[in-house]
Amino acid sequence: MIGRRALLRYASGVSGASAATLAGLAGCASTGSARPRIVIVGGGFGGATCARTLRVALPSARITLIVREATYTACPFSNLVIAGLRELPVQQFGYATLAALGIEVRIAAARDVDAARRSVTLANGERLTYDRLVLSPGIDVDYAALPGYDRAASERLPHAWQAGAQTLLLREQLRAMPADGLVVMTIPENPYRCPPGPYERASLIAHYLRTHKPGARLLLLDAKDRFSKMSLFRAAWRERYGDRLQWLGAADGARVIGVDADARRVFTDFDEYAADVINVVPPQKAGAIAARAGVADASGWCPVYAATFAATLAERIHVIGDAAIANAMPKSAFAANAQGRLVGLQIARLLGDQEPLDTTLLNTCYSLVAPDYGISVAGVYRPNGERWAEVPGAGGTSPLDAPAASRALEARYARDWFTAITRDVFG
Ligand code: FAD
Repeated sequence: MIGRRALLRYASGVSGASAATLAGLAGCASTGSARPRIVIVGGGFGGATCARTLRVALPSARITLIVREATYTACPFSNLVIAGLRELPVQQFGYATLAALGIEVRIAAARDVDAARRSVTLANGERLTYDRLVLSPGIDVDYAALPGYDRAASERLPHAWQAGAQTLLLREQLRAMPADGLVVMTIPENPYRCPPGPYERASLIAHYLRTHKPGARLLLLDAKDRFSKMSLFRAAWRERYGDRLQWLGAADGARVIGVDADARRVFTDFDEYAADVINVVPPQKAGAIAARAGVADASGWCPVYAATFAATLAERIHVIGDAAIANAMPKSAFAANAQGRLVGLQIARLLGDQEPLDTTLLNTCYSLVAPDYGISVAGVYRPNGERWAEVPGAGGTSPLDAPAASRALEARYARDWFTAITRDVFG
């Protein structure tokens, strides 16, 4: 068990921890096992980082990483693939380095979690027990949330919000559309994976149309009136894409209430749009295994105790990355990587009878408005009670009036960031 002294200190309020934190810590208490077994589900930015951190922080542990596919396809920069500016294989990474480090990598889907018996069942029926479980399953499309949009519809109206076949499908549809055609993108309410992602995608599709389909247009139907880096995107759109790209928000009646995949139509509160290509950025929820484990709430996402990312709804399970409710922290690869590292360290400390770290996390999201035009938003986050709150004044966005040379530099920083993070996680 975690040190009684430490627990009492939390209880007496020395650290300012709430009763909820105490409950979270109790749920994380050590089993005292000499060779603890830690199972991690999901080998993306969160899960793979957590496995690597644990390998170093807890050398005695047996660490098993369960990944659905032998090859991971990264979403950051997949918008460049859609715009024909990059090929999919450079987005793909394997797990050989992690296996060489002594992480047991199992290529299988985790089908179920029994939190009471502390076990994970794989698709082949095999059952793995754990002392501690980390879930980093990313997102699933919430097919129940948008009338007319089910898995079959996504084959005609791709979402491309999980990179891979969907990314290539959207690219092919853009290539095949008429030179004077119409592309419609639908964008949901928050929260969803990568808040600026739809607007980067819109920019790069507009870049593609300007280059290859000179008479074509792109219409964005957004369920919101404000979005990440809005002023920067809109200024850049005016400058680079003019009338080719039109954005409508909720106040314009652009909230999408349904689609008809066969007819390639989108319905809003007031209008109906037919288009040659429709990209539905869909409503989302935590990857399904989170609900199977009982750690997702009615919102579809997973509440966690801030400092440890321990699930509030089950003991000895931590949830990180897109699946977790991290409040002010966005759902990004940068954040998932930071959370993976933090939770690896916190688990090692908890199993070693030490208090969890009191820490600060960062996030930076780059977006490409064009291949030579980058913008960014950065944030600094700290636990405030049981919520991750943004530290006021510590972050910010690129300036609105930066010269072209600064935009080109930020585009380069974005590429360097992708190279660095993917080496850090998979290399
Ligand atoms: P993921 O990376 O999705 O990893 C989850 C893994 O778990 C997947 O491989 C999945 O197959 C696997 N899995 C799920 N369930 C199971 C199961 N039951 N059994 C086994 N395996 C399972 N972020 C940035 O920081 N910067 C960007 O520029 C950026 N650009 C983006 C652009 C687009 C178009 C999109 C869609 C996203 C972008 N993101 C960006 C967001 C980023 O991709 C996600 O936030 C990040 O991948 C989250 O990491 P994760 O570990 O939570 O989930």
